[in-house]
Amino acid sequence: MEFGKLSKTELKTLQAQLAKKFDACKAMGLKLNMARGKPSAEQLDLSLDMLDQITSRSNVVLPDGTDCRNYGLADGLPEMRGMLGKMMGLPAENVIVGGNSSLNMMFDAISCCMTHGLPGGKPWCLEEHRKFLCPSPGYDRHFGVTEYFGFELITVPMLPTGPDMDVVEKLVFSDPDIKGIWCVPKYSNPTGITYSDETVRRFAALKPAAPDFRIFWDNAYCVHDLTDTPDHLLNLWDECQKAGNPDLPVFFASTSKITFPGAGVAAMGASDNNLQVFRKHYKYQTIGPDKLNQLRHLLFLKKVGGIPAQMCRQRAIIAPKFEAVEQIFEQELAGKGVAAWTKPNGGYFISVDVTPGCAKRTVALCKEAGVTLTGAGATFPYHKDPQDSNIRVAPTYPPLEEVKQAAKLFCLCAQMAVCEKLLES
Ligand code: PMP
Repeated sequence: MEFGKLSKTELKTLQAQLAKKFDACKAMGLKLNMARGKPSAEQLDLSLDMLDQITSRSNVVLPDGTDCRNYGLADGLPEMRGMLGKMMGLPAENVIVGGNSSLNMMFDAISCCMTHGLPGGKPWCLEEHRKFLCPSPGYDRHFGVTEYFGFELITVPMLPTGPDMDVVEKLVFSDPDIKGIWCVPKYSNPTGITYSDETVRRFAALKPAAPDFRIFWDNAYCVHDLTDTPDHLLNLWDECQKAGNPDLPVFFASTSKITFPGAGVAAMGASDNNLQVFRKHYKYQTIGPDKLNQLRHLLFLKKVGGIPAQMCRQRAIIAPKFEAVEQIFEQELAGKGVAAWTKPNGGYFISVDVTPGCAKRTVALCKEAGVTLTGAGATFPYHKDPQDSNIRVAPTYPPLEEVKQAAKLFCLCAQMAVCEKLLES
């Protein structure tokens, strides 16, 4: 029964039925949150043992004499650089392990380019019409960083293969004011798609008009598989070497969704040329990162059998939540022409496109009935979804039963919003 094919009278009957259900839900006084991609308490408990790993006084001094309690090792513990480098597909020597947040490292990298610039260009703050490409729907905090630094944000459509590379190539080739692009190449936030091999190769082969154009490759979900058929992402580092473009990408990742968000370990990686610039910046910024936290992570992750083993345990908790949401969407929404949604093989989100013009209303109705979602529009530059269609659903945080309740309510609200829209037209 497609809503679009119903007569006005049928729609009115349907609207009354939906409203009745909605009132019943409201009366339940729900207070659920599917707004941000946060691990649940159960997931955080997986890493609790880490807090005990450091208690031995003997292991804070490494066999090579490094005292993790003291200043030094600005690039981080060598073994941690190796571990995160392996996860990111980069040589350890090209990885800097920093503090607790990769977003912080991205902010710092942009800030460094703003004030000091990159080889071949001037400081970005002197570029009056600086612009940044934002594949959308995308990660709101990425867009926020470049908006904060005064870039014009340019929307690039997302395709099932990644950003529309015809658009990216055309813009980057012709406009020297474009300084970079945000990318979440694996299990993208929020669409869950992984860039195709062709997309990665086209990124590696870009010939930007700006000599200081950079690809900000935020591989936040590189090991966050949810199924037995995980996506495979081609290694951009290798492809850039082959294409003779080693300075083009800057890589980021963290253990935020492997251990503790807010108390994990973040890393960035880049070519020697790029790292020379960033290291100089960090040299003034800090006398070194928190090596005790890095050590804690090393000891803990080795003890549990490595990052892949830890991610299997994470998957066991969150995969059922994704499955539940997908099942409910299928039951409640399929065949109604109300919404389309992604079925990701990994990551933290399900991305829903409701009928254009209905996203804000759906989110508002959910809120009214006690379910908080990411604000409609948040996945686009300036929080403006031109279609008012995309909604990011983050099922990891609430317990499974609450996820199910929230997903059902979401379906009800989406149907109400679309029904209203059709009755208006
Ligand atoms: N990048 C992406 C794509 C994310 O989704 C998130 C968390 N929501 C982050 C970065 C934040 O990472 P961190 O905790 O390392 O700052």
